[in-house]
Amino acid sequence: MRLHLLIFSLSFSIAHADFFSDSYIEARSKFIHLSQKLQNLNHFIEVGAAHIPSQIDPDLTLNYTYIPPTNSTNHLLVVTSGVHGPEAFVGSAIQVQLLHFMKNKRLKSTGLLLIHSVNPYGFKYLRRASESNVDLNRNFVVDENIFFQTNSGYDKVKHLLENQESVSSLSKIWNRTVFGLLQLLSSGTNLADIIQAVGQGQYHSPRGLYYGGQAHEPQVALFKKLISHYALSYEKAAFVDLHTGIGKKTQLTLMTGMLTTDNSWSELTKVFPQSTNAYYSLYNGSATAPLSIYGDIVDLFSYILKPKASFAFTAEFGTLGDDIITRLTSIHRVIVENQGFHHGYSSNKIKEKFDPLFLKVFNPPSDRWRKSTLQKSHKMFEQILSSTEI
Ligand SMILES: [Zn+2]
Repeated sequence: MRLHLLIFSLSFSIAHADFFSDSYIEARSKFIHLSQKLQNLNHFIEVGAAHIPSQIDPDLTLNYTYIPPTNSTNHLLVVTSGVHGPEAFVGSAIQVQLLHFMKNKRLKSTGLLLIHSVNPYGFKYLRRASESNVDLNRNFVVDENIFFQTNSGYDKVKHLLENQESVSSLSKIWNRTVFGLLQLLSSGTNLADIIQAVGQGQYHSPRGLYYGGQAHEPQVALFKKLISHYALSYEKAAFVDLHTGIGKKTQLTLMTGMLTTDNSWSELTKVFPQSTNAYYSLYNGSATAPLSIYGDIVDLFSYILKPKASFAFTAEFGTLGDDIITRLTSIHRVIVENQGFHHGYSSNKIKEKFDPLFLKVFNPPSDRWRKSTLQKSHKMFEQILSSTEI
């Protein structure tokens, strides 16, 4: 018995480590390879890729795999990874785990559409944003007038977020951010307003943070085309967008978008009942929520596939934690990375010291963290499938 347990846990740990990759190229080939293996067993599976245009790299692709159900087209489940580049390591591992799971499983009434690495540039070059410095999750706007919207709250904190010089000292940027923040708070600015101003996205500072662009990035049209095409024969469609970095360490937070309707929230809470001792927590991002985000991919999904869209959410796996110091640490690293990208580093030594710190915010190297994340995501998909399979 003990030996069996040992073998089981050993095989799980080998498998779970195998799902993670060290680079975009490795992750992409794992995704393609496994998809093709599945396709050899079931010729109805579709495996495809779309090229993402780039000024510097001709080999950036968004890959996708569609696995149709055996009996009826009741529910399509779309799963995306890597909207934010460095978060793709985890998102890709979760998708690879799902493909492994599908090796021995045929779904009766749920179709699966896995879209791998929505932001391949960001995955390969370790940036949250696209090659044009666009945060894709502020770019999937339903109403294109948002591109011309000014965020005056952002302008008030811009001096803390964007420094026009090379990165010469990490502590200098930390002190500047924290001191500036304390100054704003002591002059009466509300912390919630600052968080809203930074997080909602902005459309007028192209070298800044959470920049949503001036027009849709190529991924938006591709995403629309893919989901519209595959959802056509289905009665309902659900969506999970995989992310990391927000929430308590190892906690899973399911967040809906600003355009969440009462109906989709009620669909979601049927699948994931609100409970204080669940392995997940729920956050309703509707316009009345404390934080509203413009251009969220989950909102565009619900809008495009209305009325068949059942529920759509961002699955956030917490990495460093969510106490105030940890949140400041995360934003500090995002500020440094953006500054380093636009203005360089004063020495290679600083860059070498900083790069792993930045990556840790989105892709913790800890084996325990990775194992727990994969277990939670597996549970999450089992829960979704138990509601979509009829
Ligand atoms: Zn993200």
